[in-house]
Amino acid sequence: MAMIIDGKPCDIRPGQTVLDVARAHGVYIPTLCYHAKIGALGRCRVCVVEVEGMTGLPTACTLEAKDGMIVRNRSPAVTRARRLMVDLLLSAGRHDCLSCEKNGTCELQQAAYKLGIERPSFESASPLPVDDSAEFIARDDNKCIHCGRCIAGCHTRVVNEILGAGFRARHTRVVCDGDVPMGASSCVQCGECVQLCPTGALTDKRARGAGRSWELQKAETLCPYCGVGCRLVLHLDPTRNAIVRVTGADEGPANDGMLCLKGRYGFDFVGRSERLTTPLIRENGSFRKTSWDEAVRFIASRLRDVRHRYGPDALGGFASAKCSNEENFLFMKFLRAVLGTNNVDHCARLCHASTVAALSQAFGSGAMTNDIAGIRHADVILIIGSNTTEAHPVIGYVIKQAVRLGKTKLIVFDPTRIPLADMAEIYAAQRCGTDVALLNSMMHVIIRENLYDKAYVAERCEGFDELKAEVATYPPERAATITGIDADVIRRAARLFASAPTAAVFFAMGITQHTTGVDNVWSLANLQMLCGNIGKVGGGLNPLRGQNNVQGACDMGALPNVLSGYQSVSDPAVRAKFEKAWGCLLPDKPGLTVTTMIEAAAAGKLRSLYIMGENPMLSEPDLHHTEHALRQLDFLVVQDIFLTETAALAHVVLPAAALPEKEGTYTNTERRVQHAPQALEPPGEALPDWKIIQRVARAMGADWNYRSPKEILDEIASLTPSYGGIGYERLGTKGLPWPCPTKDHPGTPVLHVGQFTRGKGLMKAIPFREPAELPDVDYPLVLTTGRLLEQYHTGTMTRKTDGLNRLAGPRVMISVEDAEALGIVNDETVRVVTRRGHIETKAFVTRRISQGTLFIPFHFVEAAANTLTIAALDPIAKIPEFKVCAARVEKV
Ligand code: SF4
Repeated sequence: MAMIIDGKPCDIRPGQTVLDVARAHGVYIPTLCYHAKIGALGRCRVCVVEVEGMTGLPTACTLEAKDGMIVRNRSPAVTRARRLMVDLLLSAGRHDCLSCEKNGTCELQQAAYKLGIERPSFESASPLPVDDSAEFIARDDNKCIHCGRCIAGCHTRVVNEILGAGFRARHTRVVCDGDVPMGASSCVQCGECVQLCPTGALTDKRARGAGRSWELQKAETLCPYCGVGCRLVLHLDPTRNAIVRVTGADEGPANDGMLCLKGRYGFDFVGRSERLTTPLIRENGSFRKTSWDEAVRFIASRLRDVRHRYGPDALGGFASAKCSNEENFLFMKFLRAVLGTNNVDHCARLCHASTVAALSQAFGSGAMTNDIAGIRHADVILIIGSNTTEAHPVIGYVIKQAVRLGKTKLIVFDPTRIPLADMAEIYAAQRCGTDVALLNSMMHVIIRENLYDKAYVAERCEGFDELKAEVATYPPERAATITGIDADVIRRAARLFASAPTAAVFFAMGITQHTTGVDNVWSLANLQMLCGNIGKVGGGLNPLRGQNNVQGACDMGALPNVLSGYQSVSDPAVRAKFEKAWGCLLPDKPGLTVTTMIEAAAAGKLRSLYIMGENPMLSEPDLHHTEHALRQLDFLVVQDIFLTETAALAHVVLPAAALPEKEGTYTNTERRVQHAPQALEPPGEALPDWKIIQRVARAMGADWNYRSPKEILDEIASLTPSYGGIGYERLGTKGLPWPCPTKDHPGTPVLHVGQFTRGKGLMKAIPFREPAELPDVDYPLVLTTGRLLEQYHTGTMTRKTDGLNRLAGPRVMISVEDAEALGIVNDETVRVVTRRGHIETKAFVTRRISQGTLFIPFHFVEAAANTLTIAALDPIAKIPEFKVCAARVEKV
């Protein structure tokens, strides 16, 4: 099929509009309301064209391209109409191009220039006030052309549903939450509207005056925060080696151009003056600056000394879910091949260790089974123990899109009424730590009512009879007394879930951070096998990984029992392969975990720790105990970008490069390996982590000569079957989801299609167990912990952006009922007490949390939630029970 535009033959693909065809053939048609991400709105009429045989001037963005069509794009009638439209839009506002932030990238300016409009012909409207009230977004209605892109983006992409069209006729304006200043509205500052705005009406407030578009360089990289793995574009001022603004990368496979406010605005940490710039050695109780040579020599001699006196297992290392795959691979190689111990672990122990333990036994692989793009194919989504819109915001957008499109129904179970609960068909708050009883009861109903997928269970699973016998003892009435959820709600949820042709489950730390973490995850695996949802596009069991490379750090073998690709250290054939490649002998006994290394340090058995980019002084449970353990060590090395609470206790501190300052690959929550090139220079003498590890390894006698991360990834591919086909040359902007065993393999978006990795899926009978510490007379409330949208993990990075701090500070969420009973009002300072200690913080009295439950975010050192949490561990995964302990609240 072909058509003619201005005499030029252009071929057509089915479903293309005239605008699509013109753009595909390099023909300029001005547009203002059209944007590829939101499609045709047909409002601005700037893209009108003349079509032979048609009356009037149709809009190219809405007109379907047809075989034989003859289009005139530059006829006098078209030019006259376009000029009038653009002239009217210019005249209706105040477009002070000289000082506008959008100068050079404004689409109205471009259209006016192309149409030869020098100044507006009509009388300008009276000026409107500028809304500067929001933290990150400036709104100037004088430059708004009412194209509707921002409203469409807010409703159909991020589905925050804040912006709308207000008032009538020539008074029409974009309004926030009815009509309040943006800063007073419920806008979450994701910035999608800014990214879509064609003019200077919506701009990044902090980028004002910081650089014109033609002065800035663009560099594509990855977000350093959560596990979604959003691709983004840094707009850099090369004269200052500084980031001016961030936009979402249109081609991002996980984020499709969208970002949350951390990814878009939380980049101040990179340029902060507190960055570590030289190595530091502790001397007489304080740090002195030193050279790399002295620091590395000192570390090597102290590590050798500890190994000589106490043996290799007196040494240990925490790898980092923030560092690249290459860096984690080298770190675990350093611990195993150079120091001779398997005592290597990282913060996955504190988030998804239970997932890895349960799913590797149930399915044969511990990772998220499905991809983000498949979410829209789900008929039902169960969200349990995941505040998705706060902790994994862009996946939250995709789930909301699926619901708003009308195909997908949501079931949400969470002790707090998370924002997604407002869109759910069924929402209920279970008591913290009762998930097994709830899930067993759902399966009870599904089996009893014959709603399960019998053929799938018979062909693909084992252990059904044991599971059936166990769940038979959980009728909804019994589960109701355990969970606090009405028996009929459990029945309705079970029926809705089981009747869906395709149902997906999403979960996070609300499921995993329990002494029953493995049981909880395996119960979800049981449910998904029972309903035949594993190995299906849009279905699956989807653990949302917390950090940008926590999946990769696990894949790279930064775990005490496996080498890269989950190859067991206890398997002689595996060890022989690595020993041959590395030219050394490897330890064969699984090592200690993060949590048991802290215990061993407290007991004087672990004498030295090397910590790369982790901050256990805020992330571990029972912080007083953690501090005691770290202070017991003979030698502590910390490699990080800031002098964190943990680094402050170290004997040597090494300055590392941040993500945009080094090259590497990172594996997101959907197992997609993505490449991030270097965009900036590290500050001072800071180095990429892989270079630091190599220097220390060489000082300890290793013959390592890696010249680039690419060489390390090639070694990873040669030793790791699931990464066998992954190399820098293949990653591009889309990356590859593992398993990708060969160089011509396309990657695997959905796991366990046809059969489970282990052969048959293993169902398991799981009895309900109570959490380790229950409320009592002295501590009558249940404390649970988690994240806020605006902050991240231990705050090392987000707390360096002042705007994020102004949006979210420390707090304890308490129910209206509990607050009234205790005589506590909103914003009052209260003391929260557990058996481990106490903190003082502001009360946030809310109806979003159930009576009897408290929620404290763990980001804030001044009100450190983990001072309060219990160090009780899941017996298999050794993950702490961050999500349940007994507490009380006192007035101060
Ligand atoms: Fe970054 Fe996660 Fe936000 Fe994406 S959703 S921008 S990866 S923090």
